[in-house]
Amino acid sequence: MTDIKSMTRQEITEAMQSMGEPAFRGKQVFTWLHKGARSFEEMSNLSKSLRQKLAADYFVTSPQVARKQVSAQDGTVKYLWELGDGNCVETVLMRYHHGNTVCVSSQVGCRMGCAFCASTVGGKVRDLRPSEILDQVLFTQLDSGLPISNIVLMGIGEPMDNLDNVLRFLELVNHPDGLNIGMRHISLSTCGVLPGIRRLGDLGLQLTLSVSLHAPDSETRSKIMPVNRAYDVEDLFQECRRYFEKTGRRISFEYAMIDGVNDHDWQADLIAKKVKGMPAHVNLIPLNDVRESPLKPSRRIAAFQKRLESHGLTATVRRSLGGDIDASCGQLRRRAMEERKGEGL
Ligand code: SAH
Repeated sequence: MTDIKSMTRQEITEAMQSMGEPAFRGKQVFTWLHKGARSFEEMSNLSKSLRQKLAADYFVTSPQVARKQVSAQDGTVKYLWELGDGNCVETVLMRYHHGNTVCVSSQVGCRMGCAFCASTVGGKVRDLRPSEILDQVLFTQLDSGLPISNIVLMGIGEPMDNLDNVLRFLELVNHPDGLNIGMRHISLSTCGVLPGIRRLGDLGLQLTLSVSLHAPDSETRSKIMPVNRAYDVEDLFQECRRYFEKTGRRISFEYAMIDGVNDHDWQADLIAKKVKGMPAHVNLIPLNDVRESPLKPSRRIAAFQKRLESHGLTATVRRSLGGDIDASCGQLRRRAMEERKGEGL
């Protein structure tokens, strides 16, 4: 059985032609899938026999809402989706002035091991398929009734650790016969897997690259992000510079502020020194308290921001949305996993 929603428009068209169907059937099927059809049965402009033939060789992914939480404060919606094999991933819908944004997951769990992150606690279970990443956008839009204009790949998982599937997802979501979301409305966040940044840079896509920096010095970064031992922050800055030269796109650096660990003035000074001459934006994130972690939120966010700005850098503090729900970084999946354990499942 083949996952038809992970196929490109071209591939579906070729498959239809090899079944003796005219090429326009490819567009019909692709359009149905990208409108959120959950089975071939729903594709009413295809003959019954064609629908049956398709169902014999292909399947249509169709995630179910396992949990849904809506923030009373700001309308943020968090979904826990149950996938075909029973695994769950999270998607967050945020309502900004510039449009509705979904934050999608790229893997079930994560193997990067960042000390402050809830997504990595149970390790990586498996990669998501292109269809399963797309479904998060599709079904969040359908379930909420809110049109989605922006996507951030900042949910559970490391996109660069599943780059083939992520690239295919980008092609799908960008397609004019599908959701048609422009690359400039998409951000991809990485903890700093250098070969992935290089590959993305060579493709020259117009998406926004976010780099989870969290410390500008090797010693601190290696302590909180194991990936730094494989790809050192010095090389990361170099790779970012190359990425900018290739794409002309400003890079956004994510920086979760951790008490006494990465919130010293000298670290702000070092960031400024390292990104000198490259247009960069630093996004300071108030650390979300993760129960499993001894790391605590910094009380120096404003001072750190000032220090960065004194060097001429653009630094913003991320507004926290969904504070009254588990709207960040693998928290809802963690909670559901714990409760299932408690229920003896
Ligand atoms: N693996 C990718 C994308 C997912 S994480 C990456 O590392 O970039 C999305 C962002 O949330 C990353 O910047 C990550 O470092 C940050 N993050 C994870 N746990 C956090 C926490 N407890 N508080 C604040 N930000 C956190």
